[in-house]
Amino acid sequence: MENPNIKVQIKHSESKTAWNIIGTKLGGKYKIARVPYIEIANSKSCTEIQKAEALKHAEFISFCFNHSDIILANTSEKTDQNVKLVCECGKKLDLFEKHIGICIECKKPIK
Ligand SMILES: [Zn+2]
Repeated sequence: MENPNIKVQIKHSESKTAWNIIGTKLGGKYKIARVPYIEIANSKSCTEIQKAEALKHAEFISFCFNHSDIILANTSEKTDQNVKLVCECGKKLDLFEKHIGICIECKKPIK
């Protein structure tokens, strides 16, 4: 998984019933994601519930983007740059060896 390295903020859409997750960097990709919600006819309170739930989901997505370094460092699926492709013994490491963290050829842990 690649680290997108994008910091974001949440903003309500000006034209739609949706929360937008937008990049904070000037010149970067502006809209990263959208969390739409349904407007329920004749029920302001039901619409407010939908809106609040959508905001929670937008906050979660936003949190993931803004903490991508920590999240990726704590998952087994690290960025490709962090994973060694070749063992000290010269064997090309496959996905299984990367997963178990040991070179099958020389039985040494992958550093
Ligand atoms: Zn090895």
